Amino acid sequence: MSSTTSPTTPNPGTEIPYTIPLPDGTPKGHTTHTESTTTIFLPKAGAFLNPVQHYNRDMSVAVIRAWNEMRKEELESKFRKKLAKNGGLSKKQAKRNKLAGVTEELGPAGVDAEVQMKEEQPVAGPSTERKFQAPSINILEALAATGLRSIRYAKEIPNVKYVLANDLSPSACEAMRRNVAFNGVGEDSLPPRKPWQPTVREEGTAIPAENGEAEEVKVEEKTEEASAVEEKKEITEDGLEVKDKVGRRPGCKGRVKINEGDACAFMYSHRSPVGPSSRVDVVDLDPYGTAAPFIDAAIGSISDGGLLAITCTDLAVLAGQQYPEKCYSNYGGVNVHAEYTHEAALRLVLHSLASCAARYGRYITPLLSFSIDFYVRLFVRINTGPEQVKRVSSNTGVVYTCHFCETSVIQPFGRIVERETAKGVVRESFKTHAGPTAKNGSSCEECGGTMHLGGPLWLGPIQDPEFAKRVMKDISSQEKEYKTFPRMLGMLSLAAQELPDPFFFTANRVAKCLHMSSMPLNKILSALLNAGYKISRSHAQAGAVKTDAPRSFIFDIMREEAKTTPIRIDKISEGSPARKLISKPMTHTIDFTPHPDASLERTGKETFYQVNPLPNWGPAPRAKSIQVAVPLPEKRKVEEVEVGQSDSKRSKVEEVGNGYENDVILPQTQEDVIAGKDEEEMMNL
Ligand SMILES: [Zn+2]
Repeated sequence: MSSTTSPTTPNPGTEIPYTIPLPDGTPKGHTTHTESTTTIFLPKAGAFLNPVQHYNRDMSVAVIRAWNEMRKEELESKFRKKLAKNGGLSKKQAKRNKLAGVTEELGPAGVDAEVQMKEEQPVAGPSTERKFQAPSINILEALAATGLRSIRYAKEIPNVKYVLANDLSPSACEAMRRNVAFNGVGEDSLPPRKPWQPTVREEGTAIPAENGEAEEVKVEEKTEEASAVEEKKEITEDGLEVKDKVGRRPGCKGRVKINEGDACAFMYSHRSPVGPSSRVDVVDLDPYGTAAPFIDAAIGSISDGGLLAITCTDLAVLAGQQYPEKCYSNYGGVNVHAEYTHEAALRLVLHSLASCAARYGRYITPLLSFSIDFYVRLFVRINTGPEQVKRVSSNTGVVYTCHFCETSVIQPFGRIVERETAKGVVRESFKTHAGPTAKNGSSCEECGGTMHLGGPLWLGPIQDPEFAKRVMKDISSQEKEYKTFPRMLGMLSLAAQELPDPFFFTANRVAKCLHMSSMPLNKILSALLNAGYKISRSHAQAGAVKTDAPRSFIFDIMREEAKTTPIRIDKISEGSPARKLISKPMTHTIDFTPHPDASLERTGKETFYQVNPLPNWGPAPRAKSIQVAVPLPEKRKVEEVEVGQSDSKRSKVEEVGNGYENDVILPQTQEDVIAGKDEEEMMNL
């Protein structure tokens, strides 16, 4: 299977791998587009897939696969614990034995009992060791358009039973039905079975794990053969996994169910924890513009421990200084105007998710949060837990940002006070914070500049480094499966090392505040490390440094540098904040001795910060592509504010030197820059 894009294969249906020829052949006026395991039909007239979204889909497949593995491990661990508690028996058997009064004969309950049982097995005859099999999962894609993403999920994520692909538009659903049938993953399709494979049992496999209860985990005494089939992953000469006839990766048996209707209504219909349309395990929200109108429905329809993958492409609203009123109405917080505005954008979306979840006694755990190209993409776990919900106010707050030097002062809404009782039990109580935080009235402590209010936004961690490493490990072992691998690896390694502290600075911006020329980054990093502070990059901007040091320390670094390279203070006007910054007495001792760890260079083949490879890189102009391509559902016609502006701004930011000498910004691979360079209309899938 070639993973290259082939938009104009002459005779589709007979030559395209992993597809099932349709009775009527290729629909009139359509061409095909192949991405990884999947080929879909696209209207010839003016539509092509936005290459940016290929990366988004690759990353989504990888993240859901890693989350699925993590979830399996968690469930298995609970299952083993429970099993050990019941003396190596299932809950039912343990109850039966208890009634029969035989529990005592098996010895004390606990781990020893399990070991004892295993030891006794050879004598007892056929193996009775209980093997764990995680329940299959369901994924819901609320705005599925052509179904490309849903089909890829069905073919590339193991353990999926159904991908529920919803769209409001009848013609989009029609296109989807065709694409699903062409890819052999329709409701009536089952993966072809090898003769010696046991019958696939569909019933009772999709019970969602609610509240993480292990008793819902299906236990199956599998034969040795069956286990071997699941584990077996053959690799072809070109390093790709051996797939089945329709391109399913090993362990994948997913099918796509199409629903034509309102996205929110469909998600709300899945909000019950039990029943035939119970909650789903993963919800993918990838609308055009903001995802705000879908958040409430999405959070309600995800099972405990489940995953929400959410995209917002309205960065002009979320980032920058324009449209604070729009940002507040969509996300419940005001955007932050500073160089760290893209990180603030992620925190605004997280705040919106956390506050929405809290209303239902649920809480979020961010796994990965990315600000990419012209959009944000976040992967967040959803759980139920009143104790965790109490922490939301302490993880939420406003931020004051100096308009001149961009010093930020963070004001959380709540604080947690721990108190030990006489019996040695630690009890937590939840209090409000004293204010106002912006000391000195409303002006900046560093430079006297005016402080602007931003937020409320999420103040907790935005990345889970362990999870990022898990995804990296997974994709590194299957590099050939992901065409955008270098960029995925780059983004994940940045997420894995990113400090949880909000916001960052860049050497250029800080130097500019003091009318100085930029100083070598290694020198700044050494000073921070020598003082015992932590440093990391930020994925959100090239050249950015995250640190737990206060802003006053960073300005002291500059003031120390100014001792050897004096600033022309006479060129700075009286009363300027720059003058105040320069003349402020130092409060820290700065040590520029080169530190061995003062480097944030690339180590492998990862691509860290990618420049826009196309002149028209960015979200498609929607209106035109709707007329010529597959119509997008009305639900997506959420008000959009000049996304192009954010895009051009973003490009500007990326043109600025990144400060990392060894950063090689790789161009997008040739295949990604697919035929359509001259196309003005792009279809955003
Ligand atoms: Zn300031």
